[in-house]
Amino acid sequence: METRLDDDAAQPAGGELAARLGALLGAQQVFAGDAVPERYCRDWSGDYAGVPLAVIRPANADEVAAALRLCAAAGVGVIPQGGHTGLVGGGTADAGHRQVVLSLERMNRIRSVDPLGMSMVVEAGCVLQAVKDAADECGYLFPLALGAQGSCQIGGNLSTNAGGVNVLRYGMMRNLVLGVEAVLPDGRVFSDLRALRKNNTGLDLKQLFIGAEGTLGVVTAATLKLFPKPRWVETLWLSAGSVDAIMAIYGRLQREGGELLSAFELITAPCLALALELDPNPQAWRALAAHPAHALIEFSASGGPDLGPWVGTLVADLLDAGLALDGLHAQSGAQAAAMWRIRERMVEAQQRRGKHLRTDVSVPIAAMAELVARFEAAAAAALPGAQPLSYGHVGDGNAHLNVLPPPGLDAAAAADWIPRLTGIVNELVDDYGGSISAEHGIGLSKRAAFEARVPAVQRELMERIKTAFDPAALLSPERILPRTGGQPR
Ligand SMILES: Cc1cc2nc3c(=O)[nH]c(=O)nc-3n(C[C@H](O)[C@H](O)[C@H](O)COP(=O)(O)OP(=O)(O)OC[C@H]3O[C@@H](n4cnc5c(N)ncnc54)[C@H](O)[C@@H]3O)c2cc1C
Repeated sequence: METRLDDDAAQPAGGELAARLGALLGAQQVFAGDAVPERYCRDWSGDYAGVPLAVIRPANADEVAAALRLCAAAGVGVIPQGGHTGLVGGGTADAGHRQVVLSLERMNRIRSVDPLGMSMVVEAGCVLQAVKDAADECGYLFPLALGAQGSCQIGGNLSTNAGGVNVLRYGMMRNLVLGVEAVLPDGRVFSDLRALRKNNTGLDLKQLFIGAEGTLGVVTAATLKLFPKPRWVETLWLSAGSVDAIMAIYGRLQREGGELLSAFELITAPCLALALELDPNPQAWRALAAHPAHALIEFSASGGPDLGPWVGTLVADLLDAGLALDGLHAQSGAQAAAMWRIRERMVEAQQRRGKHLRTDVSVPIAAMAELVARFEAAAAAALPGAQPLSYGHVGDGNAHLNVLPPPGLDAAAAADWIPRLTGIVNELVDDYGGSISAEHGIGLSKRAAFEARVPAVQRELMERIKTAFDPAALLSPERILPRTGGQPR
């Protein structure tokens, strides 16, 4: 059972601020000291943990504003927290009971839906799946789709500029947002929730909150774009002899039906083998699993003729050309879901193996196959016996170049292999002018790598923007860029 602030045992170590926050929000909405439940302290991956001074759960933007004012007066840092599925440590408090975690979980109302304008206004704590379901009930699609959609929240999606499997067709979160409401660190509210598709009146300031990882303001609501629901969805699994061949298939599909292509995921053979460890019927995949590389592909259309026959012809052409060696064309929603489950199980199976290298990089699409080949060779040379796992949203030039360590790794190697291999991956990405963080952001874990690469002009502008919004550097402190020269950023 969770202990609350009003329980005797739960009196906070940094008591006065927590007591004031309790008086403001209600004691039931503040956890402090030993009473902070584990879920606010440890992220989805289990790689980041930290016990905050207190966790607060405001119910609306006014409460967020008042709480931020109290924290600012006390000089205490605040970490906004959504579903805690971010993978770079941004939403977890530092060790040492120094920061307040502000959970958005109670701010989970769908405020309104505008069918003609195809938009909806939602609070930041809405879980992504709930937003997708609400859009669906109204006959529309909210297209952001990612493995964590049952837990991550719209505020987190917006603050990380989340991507996912349908970026190819609909873009990243930035492309799906029409309006933002956010509370600034001093308690003022920035409100621009208008669902305008065109508005060229000065700087588009709401864009600054998207991808800011909670460093500029606490997002409390957003106006999201809706899309027509797809009427036709065709899902394919194609197997090929190499990643090169998969990328050639991508090029061909992009040329022949790019606007209908809504997902194109690379899954290499070791990733499929890993996913099949969790599949109830791995034998069904035996023939396909013999091939070195695979693509999970989706075409969709909201109207027009049935896509099935056209996609069937495309597949036949790819097989005739020898680009695809085998494949499955889903004939039902259940078959399509089984293919997507492989994608999810691959991630879950890595998680079950414990601590491993997790990266999220992007390069020009033309360089993808070469990057994967160089990464797999470099990882094998740097850590013999390790298992490289290459997969990702390669239609967006985005890959996860992950590594499972060899069994029985000795303690010295275990301590340094992740930073060592991360460095190798980042240097490979540099060779192609790529990005060391395609989707997940910088948070805490990628700060040094980002710092080493951010050009001086960009860094200075980011510092100035941070200072303009948060001169005392109290919101998501030290995330993205650490303080420089002892000055607040
Ligand atoms: C299995 C799995 C699959 C994933 N797949 C993808 C994927 O395909 N694409 C992708 O982009 N990401 C993916 N992710 C990463 C993650 O789900 C996304 O980054 C997601 O957008 C984070 O949302 P969250 O609510 O969990 O945010 P959190 O983890 O709670 O927070 C993330 C960051 O945003 C800040 N933040 C959170 N809420 C707010 C707010 N209301 N206002 C201001 N700042 C806030 C936090 O301080 C933190 O810095 C995946 C994660 C998992 C576990």
